[in-house]
Amino acid sequence: MNVPNLKPKDFTSDVTPVWCPGCGDFHVLMSITRALAELGRPPEDIAVISGIGCSSRIPAYTNCYGFHGVHGRSLSLAAGLKIARPDLTVLAMSGDGDGFSIGGNHFLHACRRNVDMTYIVMDNRVYGMTKGQPSPTTEPDWDSALSPGGTGLSPFHPLVIALASGANFVAREFSGNIKGCTKTIVEAVNHPGFSFVEILSPCVTFRPDEKEWKNQVHGASVPETDDPARAARRIMTDDGMNTGILYRGQRKPYFASVKNTFGEIAPLERAFEV
Ligand code: SF4
Ligand code: MG
Repeated sequence: MNVPNLKPKDFTSDVTPVWCPGCGDFHVLMSITRALAELGRPPEDIAVISGIGCSSRIPAYTNCYGFHGVHGRSLSLAAGLKIARPDLTVLAMSGDGDGFSIGGNHFLHACRRNVDMTYIVMDNRVYGMTKGQPSPTTEPDWDSALSPGGTGLSPFHPLVIALASGANFVAREFSGNIKGCTKTIVEAVNHPGFSFVEILSPCVTFRPDEKEWKNQVHGASVPETDDPARAARRIMTDDGMNTGILYRGQRKPYFASVKNTFGEIAPLERAFEV
C-alpha cells in the first residue's frame, strides 16, 4: 500500500547517530530516508538489515523494521526475509570490510540468486569501527600505522564482481551527492531482482584524504546499459570515481520462479531418518 505525503522524518528514529562528525554515512542515511519517503511505502512495510561496522548501525537510525546482524551476514538475513515475506521492501546495508571480506562469499551468491532486494554498501576503503585497518577495497599504496608502506595488494572491485556474478542492477554513487544517491536508491528498489549500489562514503577519521572525494567523483561519461558486455567494457575504463547507474539487467527475480517455497517439514524429516 502506498501512503501519500510521507516525509524523510517518518523514516528517522529518535536514536542519535554516534558516527564521527563529518562521516559520509550521515549523508547516506539522509539519502535512504529521502528515498523511502519518495517510494511511498510506510515504515512497517520496510526492513533494513545490516552486518557489523560503522555503516551497519543504520537500522537503529531508521524507523523501519531492522536487524543488526553479525559480521558479513546482512545478505543472508535479508535474502531469507525477502523469500519468507516477499511483500516487504528489503534493504541490506554493509560496509566494505563487512560486505566484501567476511561477507564476500555471500555477495557473490546474492548477485547470482537475484532475490528482489537492494544492497547498499558504504565504501570508505577502510575498517573504520576497528580503527583503520586496510579493507578489501583499500588502495595498495595506502600508507598507515597499521599498514606501513601499504599492503601492495590489488583492491577488490565491487562493480566488476557484482556484474560478473549476475546482479540485476549495478550503480555507484558518492555520499555527498544526496540528490544523486536518493534517485539511484529509488531506482534500485524499483528495479526487480538484486540491486547493488556502492556508495563512496568518506571515513573522515581514518581516511582524511577521502575528504577530497568530493572533488574527484564525476558522472560516468557512458550511459547505463542493459547489455552486460557493454557494462563490462565501461567498467574496464572505470577509475573508481565514476558515479551513476552502470547496468540494469532483465533477469527474473529468484522468488518469482520458485514454487512451493513453504513445504511440509515432516516428509523432509522422514526422508532423512536413518
Ligand atoms: Fe565514519 Fe570513519 Fe568515524 Fe566510522 S570511524 S563513524 S566510518 S568517520
Ligand atoms: Mg569500511
